Amino acid sequence: MNTSFLKKRLNYLVIAFIGFGFLSCESSYQDEDKQEITQQVASEFYPNKNVTDGPYIYKGDSTINVKWIEQNKLFEVTIFDNDYSLIEQNFGFALDTANLFQEKKVSIDYKNTFNNVENFIAISDMHGQYFVTIDLLKKYGIIDKDLNWSFGKGYLIVDGDIFDRGDKATEILWLIYKLKNQAEVCGGKVHYLIGNHELMVLNNDLRYVNEKYKLTEKMIATSYDQLFSERTVIGEWLRTSPVILTINDVLFVHAGISPEFIENKFTQQGVNFMFQNRIIGAEDEVIENDPILSFLEGRNGPVWYRGYFLDTTFTEQKLDRILDYFDKERIVVGHTSFDSIVSLYDGKILGIDASIKRGKNGELLIFEKGKFYRGTLNFGKIELK
Ligand code: ZN
Repeated sequence: MNTSFLKKRLNYLVIAFIGFGFLSCESSYQDEDKQEITQQVASEFYPNKNVTDGPYIYKGDSTINVKWIEQNKLFEVTIFDNDYSLIEQNFGFALDTANLFQEKKVSIDYKNTFNNVENFIAISDMHGQYFVTIDLLKKYGIIDKDLNWSFGKGYLIVDGDIFDRGDKATEILWLIYKLKNQAEVCGGKVHYLIGNHELMVLNNDLRYVNEKYKLTEKMIATSYDQLFSERTVIGEWLRTSPVILTINDVLFVHAGISPEFIENKFTQQGVNFMFQNRIIGAEDEVIENDPILSFLEGRNGPVWYRGYFLDTTFTEQKLDRILDYFDKERIVVGHTSFDSIVSLYDGKILGIDASIKRGKNGELLIFEKGKFYRGTLNFGKIELK
């Protein structure tokens, strides 16, 4: 038995016992239990591609149904008797079994406010670029070589837009899901904020979905948004994710807080509630016919606004009013892409979409010992002034 396997196994044990109650580590699952549904679909649509995707995990009343594609073949298995070892063995993460069948909406914290956090790292706009994402997270010690959490009590903020463009969104989603559960065990946290691309996918606007997922749609016989429906593990998690998060004196939002946002006197808690309960999953018509919902979902709302970078009438005075409104010192956004992390208005705005979407490079925002740094892939850590 090699050490990395042992470490992984031990890690799993720790999570099983401390985090989510008892999980048997000995699997009763046999490979023959895996039902292969079809083999011919992939070659019809993508004769030259070798597609692997998933898992997509659907919740029943007390069972879960798992579907995935391995080398152009669709597999499906239903898990009874709480034996989730198949998930760990096949896909390398443990399900959050303590919360799997609980009623979610009751205990949601819409405030999403945290103080006295000593270290955090923020990443944004990964857009399916799994390999750049793991390179960055490894380089700055968020994950170890086996892709397990190694950031202790630190916080990781994913500032939206894991979905669309690239072809490895599913891999990033499950990595972040795994890290969220592992971080909790260590006293750390992972926060995944809703970006415009999360919202688009959940609301069935599929213009930017990578063509690979069209194959997944055909093989599983469902539309892409339904792969993340309320009945799925990832879909349920996304429906409890915030749009606005505050940590210490920093406000995180995918795109930005516009002057119009504060004129409307929206609150952090209220907006998180509105997105989770009234915008995500709502019909277009319902949103269009409600001025509050359509503002929040629209171009001056928190998941689309680009005014800090593109509106020539935006001023520091306007920014100060926004910061005062929230009683914060700075705002961290993704969404508007640059070659590196950018700092505007003496660091009051940090734009952290460093174009990971191109698949070649990217940066993390690092906060430690009271200072902010760009965590670059090739040039190390550079202090932001
Ligand atoms: Zn965006």
